[in-house]
Amino acid sequence: MSKTYVEPGREIPVYDECDILIVGGGSAGHSAAIAAARAGAKNIVIMERYGYMGGDVTGGYVLMVPKLSWYNKSFVRGLQEEWFTRLEKIPGAVLAPTLEQIGTSDPVLLDIWASIHGCVSESEPKRLVRAVYYEPNQLKIEMDKMLLEHKDAIRVQYHSMGVRPIMEGNELKGVIFESKEGRKALLAKVIIDATGDGNIFYQTGTPYKELADSNTRSNTTALVWRIGGVDWHKYYEWQKANRHLAGGIFKRIGEIAGFRCAPIPGSQHDWLWMNNWHADRDCSKIKDQTETEMNTRDTLRDVLAYLKEACPIAFRDAYLLDIAPQLGCRCSRRLQGEYIMTPNDFAFATKFDDVIAWHSTICLINDCAPIEIPYRAILPKNVENLLCPGRHISADDVAIDWLTLIPQCVGTGQAAGVAAAVAVADGVSVRDVNIRRVQDILVEQDVPLPRHPGVDPSYTQCCEEHEYGLYTELARKAREEANGIKDYRQW
Ligand SMILES: Cc1cc2nc3c(=O)[nH]c(=O)nc-3n(C[C@H](O)[C@H](O)[C@H](O)COP(=O)(O)OP(=O)(O)OC[C@H]3O[C@@H](n4cnc5c(N)ncnc54)[C@H](O)[C@@H]3O)c2cc1C
Repeated sequence: MSKTYVEPGREIPVYDECDILIVGGGSAGHSAAIAAARAGAKNIVIMERYGYMGGDVTGGYVLMVPKLSWYNKSFVRGLQEEWFTRLEKIPGAVLAPTLEQIGTSDPVLLDIWASIHGCVSESEPKRLVRAVYYEPNQLKIEMDKMLLEHKDAIRVQYHSMGVRPIMEGNELKGVIFESKEGRKALLAKVIIDATGDGNIFYQTGTPYKELADSNTRSNTTALVWRIGGVDWHKYYEWQKANRHLAGGIFKRIGEIAGFRCAPIPGSQHDWLWMNNWHADRDCSKIKDQTETEMNTRDTLRDVLAYLKEACPIAFRDAYLLDIAPQLGCRCSRRLQGEYIMTPNDFAFATKFDDVIAWHSTICLINDCAPIEIPYRAILPKNVENLLCPGRHISADDVAIDWLTLIPQCVGTGQAAGVAAAVAVADGVSVRDVNIRRVQDILVEQDVPLPRHPGVDPSYTQCCEEHEYGLYTELARKAREEANGIKDYRQW
């Protein structure tokens, strides 16, 4: 860009001061706020540009949380599992195999769940997996309720957009934000950048990368929309009976839209969400954001009309239920922090002393087995007082695809909140935080961590018994494919 304008300097009011400031209220930011409060922090602010929590998981209509279990163990617990134990009480809010059912190979249950993507394992013997479908508005309500339970410790600031870090040398001291009240400053001891696009960290001088390998799903944007008046069971039965036609439908809706689209079940069988992938678009660029919005809206009526015609048994009465309130953002800027995760961490089950999450993932090269995420993957280089959990986690071009799923955003967010609380209580920087204390609190918050004395040893036994998923037939095939065609695009 050649032409510039020099913005004059000016004094701005300090709106608030706190111990822990979280910028961005998506799955990572919300989890950070709740976890920090439960770890004893008393002076927390969470700032969000929209008027609700959740980001992609509520406003972006990403309505499925995959792979919370591996074999018969629920590896992803903590706040992620709490969302669903809370929502399960509300009719129609959640659809998932129960925790008691996971790992079973009971043919009756496998048959019941076969129609719901992700609820049955890819590898043999087939078994039930805890993959959860949920209703986004119910989750929005629940996320507010969770914050209100900690209103003595957390101040929620909606409709506020963090725009600039306040730096003193390499120390981050706060954030400048914009709102209907104008431009103001918020000062904090620790800042958690949970904006998903590194909105704060990219201006601090810490290393980061932009878009990933263009074969990855991370390189795609979306605008999800929902179809009401459908019958998911009838659609599934029709697909089973008409395999040749069903494949053609996917291909055709992609051709009509001009980008890949896939209908995914919802928490109730009478609506579905239309996931989509606009290739090589960056959700931090105005042009790509605008084109994603306009291309999707421009083509969705035609996609719906085609579905009614191609599969009337399921779509005869279908109608446009709604369009997600916000753009679906998979990835843009990514931290290149103190540790950069790579496919090797999946392929060799790397063990980390500073592990903060031990998650089953969607990665087929290790049969979706749990992998360890280290604290250093959310810790930036060269900048103090900053943590960066969520989908902009530090990873290379390939590993990022397996780390931006909702569980990993919740898990790293929860860990960031606890680490911030411990650092503030001990009067040390987040770089020097007592990681053992962070791990102890995470375990108290129902997060299973490997090698921790407070965690049931059957978790480790499960991994060892199944060799961390590395030598299964599925892992072998996935590695061959990854080496050959280098197409990691999924989800
Ligand atoms: C279409 C689509 C389908 C997907 N499918 C799946 C799936 O099936 N299962 C799965 O597990 N994952 C899926 N993912 C990935 C997953 O949903 C996201 O990676 C995850 O939800 C990101 O969480 P986050 O908190 O890191 O970021 P976000 O959800 O993006 O949250 C960031 C929050 O910060 C706010 N914010 C941003 N900038 C600022 C700022 N400057 N100031 C204040 N607030 C700000 C945003 O409004 C938002 O609320 C999908 C993603 C997309 C887009």
